[in-house]
Amino acid sequence: MMDVPAPLRLAIDDDALAANWRAMARLSRDAACGAAVKADGYGLGARHVVRVLAAAGCRDFFVATWSEVAAIADLIAGHDLRLSVLHGVRDEDMAAATTLPARPVLNTPQQVARWREGGGGRACDVMVDTGMHRLGVAAGDVAGGLLAGLAIDTLMSHLACADEPSPMNMVQRDALAALAGSTDAVRLSLANSAGVTLGRDYRFGLTRPGLALYGGEPCAALSGVVRQVVRPQAQILQRRCVRAGGAVGYNATWTAPVDTEVAILNLGYADGYLRGFSGRGAARCDDARLPVIGRVSMDLTAIDVTNAAHLAEGDWVEIDYHLPSAAAASGLSQYELLTGLGIRFDRRAA
Ligand SMILES: *Cc1c(COP(=O)(O)O)cnc(C)c1O
Repeated sequence: MMDVPAPLRLAIDDDALAANWRAMARLSRDAACGAAVKADGYGLGARHVVRVLAAAGCRDFFVATWSEVAAIADLIAGHDLRLSVLHGVRDEDMAAATTLPARPVLNTPQQVARWREGGGGRACDVMVDTGMHRLGVAAGDVAGGLLAGLAIDTLMSHLACADEPSPMNMVQRDALAALAGSTDAVRLSLANSAGVTLGRDYRFGLTRPGLALYGGEPCAALSGVVRQVVRPQAQILQRRCVRAGGAVGYNATWTAPVDTEVAILNLGYADGYLRGFSGRGAARCDDARLPVIGRVSMDLTAIDVTNAAHLAEGDWVEIDYHLPSAAAASGLSQYELLTGLGIRFDRRAA
């Protein structure tokens, strides 16, 4: 296949990615620090993320499904790395689950029975529901012996409100702590990115940050700690002058108040740059802020380049994608901003 250079790049700052993991590992103190790399490494590319974080010292990785395991299996096997599959095992996963280098996080009594029956004594993790009521076996069932005889590595739970002060955090922490010693689990685990900052009692033996590794700041305690990792860059397809009174884009939602220099970028909602950025997002060139004008289209976005006289057709601009600010501007969550980044980006280390 011919290699055509894409008009859209995702610059990934490997140093920042590694530094963010080291920062989370430091905050995790005595607990090991893992990494959630589900959803293709939160949109960055799981293979790339695993390589960078393994080199930084990360040993424990988390994906959601077994097809995500298959995509990175060769990076795990034989490299002293561990990979867990958060959604556990369905019947149709058993062949993969007994051959690929990963262990399931068992979530239901049926999954527990399936693994006991067909897992051949292989190791597993278990998710306990401590109040989020999403996935997990009941804490009472664990205390009652549901997991007897399983080779459990990590007994884990997940915080519903880690990014805000909530009495639920303490309730969930205490419910997990109460299970210490009730199974043969090697370690317990509770904290995601925000959970790492909640204090010593939340860190247990292993932390599982995701968002913060990729430059997200789920809570104030992590601002200033986390560095921006992802920088979308788009090429200019056309530069034009829109005369005062001329409209730009679908439904003519923006009308030039004065003669305005406009650049049309090779970026749109099909790339994950959603309509929430219409009239609210911006690109940047040197120090100039170049606001998005009119509606974001499927493949195109218009910006005001009046303050960037030299920008021409074929030049590149960087899209403002500091996650907390971009989330505030667009109304999307920082998680959505990352995982929505589309397949047309040429992802490259920078
Ligand atoms: C996604 C996920 C994480 C990581 O959460 P962040 O908020 O991105 O740090 C940790 N644990 C579980 C079970 C998850 O599903």
